[in-house]
Amino acid sequence: MRAMGAYAAKRERMVADQIAARGIRDPRVLDAMRRVPREEFVRRLSRSSAYEDHPLPIASGQTISQPYIVALTMEAARLDEHCSVLDVGTGSGYAAAVLAEIVADVVSIERHPELAEGARRVLARLGYSNVSVVTGDGTLGWPDAAPYDAIVVAAAAPRVPEPWLEQLKDGGRLVMPLGTPGFGQKLKRFTLGPDRISQMDDLGGVTFVPLIGANGLGAPLFEENDD
Ligand code: SAM
Repeated sequence: MRAMGAYAAKRERMVADQIAARGIRDPRVLDAMRRVPREEFVRRLSRSSAYEDHPLPIASGQTISQPYIVALTMEAARLDEHCSVLDVGTGSGYAAAVLAEIVADVVSIERHPELAEGARRVLARLGYSNVSVVTGDGTLGWPDAAPYDAIVVAAAAPRVPEPWLEQLKDGGRLVMPLGTPGFGQKLKRFTLGPDRISQMDDLGGVTFVPLIGANGLGAPLFEENDD
């Protein structure tokens, strides 16, 4: 899909100055970010800022992530046209659109129904037919479409939700911000071995909104002991 209009030059500059210049090399990611019209995913009043180097507010007190962090996450997930991906934290739907440009199928899950509905609308209007936006608690994953080649997450959790590991293929990648808001977060890539995490890579410090759910913020950090 080709995005057109007055924002095309800003989009090219964003990819060159904020993304390629910071070391993102995967041509699939760079091409996808050249194609997705980010201005469609922000509030009308924020459109002129859509290609700036920072997050922007969206509805429900949430944010659309900084473009570079979206690119870093996608590159780390090692995606191609055969992949099936779970996107946790749909927000505006922008990251889901970037994914949809690269992979075969995307399930994107959002806990706020009004955000999910808004994302569904804009993704449909732009012609993305390989994304399904669902409403629910993403910390439980989305077993109906599992197993996934990758799970990418746009909200920070203090630990890795177990269902995500169960829903990844052998060799699958989980890219997520790990940490508690206000106490430091790191973007991490976990690679799955035959049954457990076989590798963990640190991709640097980040600042994300909290992942709220049964296995996110608010969940007990340690299992209760029965005796
Ligand atoms: N990827 C988004 C985009 O491109 O606009 C940005 C997402 S925003 C930084 C994080 C989102 O995660 C918020 O919309 C928030 O409501 C959502 N979220 C937080 N906890 C969640 C959960 N347990 N399940 C699903 N979504 C969750």
